[in-house]
Amino acid sequence: MVRETSRREVLGSLALGVLAAAGLVPRRVGAAGAAAYELPPLPYAYNALEPTLSEQLLRVHHDRHHAGYVNGLNKTLAALEKARDAGDFSAIRTLSRNLAFHASGHILHNLYWQSMRPGREVQPRGALRQALERQFGSVDKFKAHFAAAAKTVEGSGWAALVHEPLGNRLLVLQVQNHQNLAIWGSVPLLVCDVWEHAYYLRYANNRGAYVDAFCKIIDWEAVGKRYAAATR
Ligand code: MN
Repeated sequence: MVRETSRREVLGSLALGVLAAAGLVPRRVGAAGAAAYELPPLPYAYNALEPTLSEQLLRVHHDRHHAGYVNGLNKTLAALEKARDAGDFSAIRTLSRNLAFHASGHILHNLYWQSMRPGREVQPRGALRQALERQFGSVDKFKAHFAAAAKTVEGSGWAALVHEPLGNRLLVLQVQNHQNLAIWGSVPLLVCDVWEHAYYLRYANNRGAYVDAFCKIIDWEAVGKRYAAATR
């Protein structure tokens, strides 16, 4: 039992390490130990992705929209605590839906900022490149698949490259809102936000131009590191 406990502690601290790296460790507040999520700063300056994404666009997207999901997540957690204390679960369906929506929104936005990099275009390398070639036919075929998924999301959503651990496969998901059409256990490696708020200030209704521009500022080095961590 001692070994099992220490193994669990190690796994727990590893999981915390992954979350810490993603800026997602909830801050403990209050005597009851209730945790609040916080909005991490952008990993670069607001104007660092110009001209692809303007400073104004990033300010609104990060400071208003991403912040809104963090606030929504904390409000939902507080409402759930209140419901437990009162023994009143009459709003549990709405609260459960809000939990999935806001938590997924926070997690995806965090990853979105880390999916892009300032500077010249780079390409996937090493083990990630080999996996893309093996599982999608070629890097170009993967890019065409990913871009098509992003451009054709119905309404608001995301395209995501994920690693599915059970089959050890890379998959492209077309996500609706933040939380629908995901696959249990899969680890997102690269995400493209195609909600209108992600591009309208710069590209108006031309989502296709935004997606094509996004694909040229992907931080493939960071994606490769996430792939290595997911397959370790
Ligand atoms: Mn967004």
